[in-house]
Amino acid sequence: MSIDHHRVLAPHTIRFCPLCGAPLAPEPVPPDHREQQVCTRCRFIFFLNPKVVAATIPERDGAVLLTRRTINPGRGLWTFPGGFVDFGESATDAAVRETFEETGLRVDLTGLLNVYTYPGAPVIIVYRAQVLGGTLTPCAENDALEWVAAPAIPWDRLAFPSTREALREWVARDPVGPARLPVHARGPARVGGRARRDAGRLSAGPGEYTSGLRGFPPRGGR
Ligand SMILES: [Zn+2]
Repeated sequence: MSIDHHRVLAPHTIRFCPLCGAPLAPEPVPPDHREQQVCTRCRFIFFLNPKVVAATIPERDGAVLLTRRTINPGRGLWTFPGGFVDFGESATDAAVRETFEETGLRVDLTGLLNVYTYPGAPVIIVYRAQVLGGTLTPCAENDALEWVAAPAIPWDRLAFPSTREALREWVARDPVGPARLPVHARGPARVGGRARRDAGRLSAGPGEYTSGLRGFPPRGGR
């Protein structure tokens, strides 16, 4: 598939102010004086930040629910339910909504699995989830839904690096599962504590991606 670079939202492709329509121009912006695109008329600074994806790993009887994608990126490959967080929506609400839209299942989040972050990619938040109800139903974005136990995970046919990282961590999870506490009450303390200890991992060199705030070291065989 050829890429039309004018269709990619990036600091070097944005041209006009989204608020007033005047041309943007690169300009150093305080406090760090890195160059940003600034509106030549109203001075709006167009900070371009990563998007956020919220996803779930639905669990049942020791198996995880995987979906097979019918769209790019990752067409024909497997992942778990998830999608972009909408404007004005919380990440937890987005995870539950996307799971319902993509699988027909209503889920309850049972804890944070991890946050995955790579240069040039969305920030991906993955929650563990239990199924409350609903009927397993494929959608326009996937053509197969399967409950897969750990030994049957198709490691060579996973859609994204975050899919692989998250499933590795899910396989290595506490088999008893997390305590049934609200996600917002248990997430920040756990992530913050690890983030401080692993701060060095977050400044990885070019070409290397970290596996998220918990600083899970990349393993061989990728
Ligand atoms: Zn403007």
